[in-house]
Amino acid sequence: MQKKKKILISLIIFFLSFYGIVIAGEEKEIKYNFYADRLITSSHIILFDEALTQKIVEIGNKIIKASDKPDMNCTFRILNDPTINAYSTASGEGSFIYVNTGLLDIIESEDELAGVLAHEIAHAVKKHQIKFLKSEFWSTFVGSFLLEFGAGVAGIYLGHTLAPSDVIRAQQIGEIVTYTTGFLGSKAVAPIIVTIIQGYRKEHELEADALAIRYMAKAGYQPTAYIAFLKKLKSIRDKLKINEKNYASCLINAKPGLEERIKYVKRLILESKYEIK
Ligand SMILES: [Zn+2]
Repeated sequence: MQKKKKILISLIIFFLSFYGIVIAGEEKEIKYNFYADRLITSSHIILFDEALTQKIVEIGNKIIKASDKPDMNCTFRILNDPTINAYSTASGEGSFIYVNTGLLDIIESEDELAGVLAHEIAHAVKKHQIKFLKSEFWSTFVGSFLLEFGAGVAGIYLGHTLAPSDVIRAQQIGEIVTYTTGFLGSKAVAPIIVTIIQGYRKEHELEADALAIRYMAKAGYQPTAYIAFLKKLKSIRDKLKINEKNYASCLINAKPGLEERIKYVKRLILESKYEIK
């Protein structure tokens, strides 16, 4: 099959899968998160370190309890990846949160780790992945292209007759996932992974920062550790000459950039009534 055709079909499959979550509730969120996790773990190696994972789960759950969705269930994974990054499938209930070994290498305190997790949990609480995809693609591209053309093409290709209303069915999403990852390979599923790993919109990043320090303070962590951590990322970025073209990390390269985020968080902490120990 031609490469271009493969890419087109993988995009259609991706949008078809996403179509289900746009109009759905918690059950679909769980399935979508599961789907995104399969894409991530098909191209990353999970580190099975029980003690370390347990520590992350403990801190993460403490933050979730202090969040706007205290009953939300998240799965925390450590990925064996030297890139300094952490990210989330960021779609509400059942979100997966990933911490790279490269990030753990530079973490110096529990408060710093709590800050990173709080930022990712905030993305999950606010469903930033869904909002990002919806705003970027749904209104402009998927609406006309997918419904009138995409479903038909993918349906034929998959050997099914898929009407737009059918494609949201969970079992079909599962089938599509298997098909996408099994046949087209990890490169074909890049669109979804890129949005997760490289960050969301500027306002979503700032919202996650603002919520992160609130959740940290409520959970008993020191919000100023978050500023220290962002400053550390900035100095690493400058030292290694990291930019969005040579390094895929939402923690370091997400818009609006570390300088603005540091200023923003500093101002929020100064203006807030957070108790600084
Ligand atoms: Zn972020």
